[in-house]
Amino acid sequence: MKRRSSKQYSMHCLNEESDLRTYEKHGILKFIMDLKDQGVVKYVGLSTHAPELANKVLDMKILDMMMFSINPMYDFGQGDFALGSTGERQTLYRRCEKEGVGISVMKPFNAGQLLDAAKSPFHQALTPAQCLQYALDKPGVLTVVGGPGNVEQLKEILSFLDTTEEERDYSIIGSFTPDDSVGKCVYCKHCHPCPAGLNIGLINKYYDLSLQGDVMAKDHYLTLEKHASDCIKCGHCNKRCPFSVQQQERMEEIREYFGK
Ligand code: SF4
Ligand code: SF4
Repeated sequence: MKRRSSKQYSMHCLNEESDLRTYEKHGILKFIMDLKDQGVVKYVGLSTHAPELANKVLDMKILDMMMFSINPMYDFGQGDFALGSTGERQTLYRRCEKEGVGISVMKPFNAGQLLDAAKSPFHQALTPAQCLQYALDKPGVLTVVGGPGNVEQLKEILSFLDTTEEERDYSIIGSFTPDDSVGKCVYCKHCHPCPAGLNIGLINKYYDLSLQGDVMAKDHYLTLEKHASDCIKCGHCNKRCPFSVQQQERMEEIREYFGK
């Protein structure tokens, strides 16, 4: 357990059920919750790499935020902390959004490995901007902690704010992620602009969140200017999507689901 500030306690680096049981057995969890009841602690956090453990703690309904490692390596089964399948990880992100638990992303570059073609398991370097945007697009994510090792790296991370949409476009990962990710929208917006003005990435995100039981997602969807029913079936998105999502067909599905 690390004391982050006078108002927040974070359960640090819990990856296995035995870690959680240790917190319970030695009364640490109760201590934190007692402090929260007294108003001394306002927010309770967890940092973990493991979706299974994260889900167990979420079941306890005690979390306000979670530090979780998100990058294309881990999400697509590469690296030491690639825990859980691609689907399990995406489901966790959506669950956090649905339950109001903000994700603070750690390891967006996997210690620089993703930025170096010689070290990346994909044999292709991504830029910091691509990695940051990748993490920011995931449901539930509020912040990304770049973890710079020096001032130069910090400046490089901050330069994200000045990058263009093209520079942040990470759809290249669609060419080197495994087959089981094919056909699943990752909200990258590479298929934009839609000639009919649909925000395809956001529409898909709200649809997936709603399927997972996020009651707010439908309201968010309905406030969009354009809906799936506005799709003119031009096929542009199907041709552009690097993840081979049959988006035109999916818009039909989404229209039927939301009735609009
Ligand atoms: S349909 Fe494809 S290109 Fe468009 S947002 Fe989804 S994954 Fe990205
Ligand atoms: S098929 Fe529909 S959603 Fe896709 S680009 Fe065309 S109008 Fe937009």
